[in-house]
Amino acid sequence: MDLDNKKDQESRSLFDFLSQKAYTPPSWASLLNPIPSHIFSLGHLPTPIHKWNLPNLPTNTEVYLKRDDLSGMQLSGNKVRKLEFLMADAVAQGADCIITIGGIQSNHCRATAVAAKYLNLDCYLILRASKVVVDKDPGLTGNLLVERLVGANVQLISKEEYAQIGSVNLTNDLKEKLVKEGRKPYVIPVGGSNSLGTWGYIEAIREIEQQVQATTGRIKFDDIVVACGSGGTIAGLSLGSWLGTLKAKVHAFAVCDDPDYFYNFVQDLIDGLKAGVDSHDIVNIQNAKGLGYAINTSEELKFVKEIATTTGVVLDPVYSGKAAYGMMKDMAENPKNWEGRKVLFIHTGGLLGLFDKVDQMSSLVENWGRMEVQESVPRKDGIGKMF
Ligand SMILES: *Cc1c(COP(=O)(O)O)cnc(C)c1O
Repeated sequence: MDLDNKKDQESRSLFDFLSQKAYTPPSWASLLNPIPSHIFSLGHLPTPIHKWNLPNLPTNTEVYLKRDDLSGMQLSGNKVRKLEFLMADAVAQGADCIITIGGIQSNHCRATAVAAKYLNLDCYLILRASKVVVDKDPGLTGNLLVERLVGANVQLISKEEYAQIGSVNLTNDLKEKLVKEGRKPYVIPVGGSNSLGTWGYIEAIREIEQQVQATTGRIKFDDIVVACGSGGTIAGLSLGSWLGTLKAKVHAFAVCDDPDYFYNFVQDLIDGLKAGVDSHDIVNIQNAKGLGYAINTSEELKFVKEIATTTGVVLDPVYSGKAAYGMMKDMAENPKNWEGRKVLFIHTGGLLGLFDKVDQMSSLVENWGRMEVQESVPRKDGIGKMF
């Protein structure tokens, strides 16, 4: 165990949760620039890794699952790792409120709303919704329930306006309004994906390295597979895997936009850290968008249902469900590319968003019925206590 890892293990100690501390990067990342000065402990880390017995894998292919869906409850998913750095920066800058933006079921917005309240900061969320509902109460489904329970200020914007104005101008507009009121807002971009947020998944690579070390060489991952939405997660994973000891090939399945957009976006993020590498050399990005962002085919939902039934792992249909679907499709079409490999799939969370899909999923889960109890079973009023 090298010094970095030892230091890191000591620093993740008992009373760590919700505390801020000075940040030291892994030695292999020490040439990146700028290096964050602080990290705020928000995630339940390390998240477990376990074997994932998916059906119909190519010969001798092993898939393991890193459970970043278990990085918390209200704070679950991949966004919490980025927020550990972004929130530390907000505190360092003396912010009194946070502004961020995303889709109506944004997991990032929900995690940010919760993290802000842990830090005693107000939270303003700009949520993108269809034209027909922007003037209506957005309801309490999935992430919205948590956001509204923790008292985030929710402002709806139509998809049309979002497309015309863009997320940067929208957050800046709200920032200006709040500054005029004497507030000190800190703006977090879509998905927490900027160069600072990228450190979240650079750190995740250090965490995986430590978990691999603990197997004393039994397990060495050849590939990492993950969903890509705003791009920050794959930027951190692929840069960390490239610079560090892992050297696993990162495969990203994009659930919105096309691969070229993400190669450029990741390039910008890693250029912001003066990494001096080409995004094309460190990550392979495939299209897994299907019908469109947050829209599912019945085929994809059936896949999510089958994986849950066969392995007990519930995937969210918007991100990891599409990524796993894309991975399995690629494994079926190009088995030679995967045979004998050890693959680490990162479950990036998003389970609250699943509640937005109940109508579409109901036909897949019709396994219920009334319990039949024979007359011969003795009955007596009051015997069953219903506390
Ligand atoms: C945001 C999100 C992703 C994608 O991560 P990015 O860093 O935005 O690319 C994947 N899965 C879930 C559940 C998410 O909420």
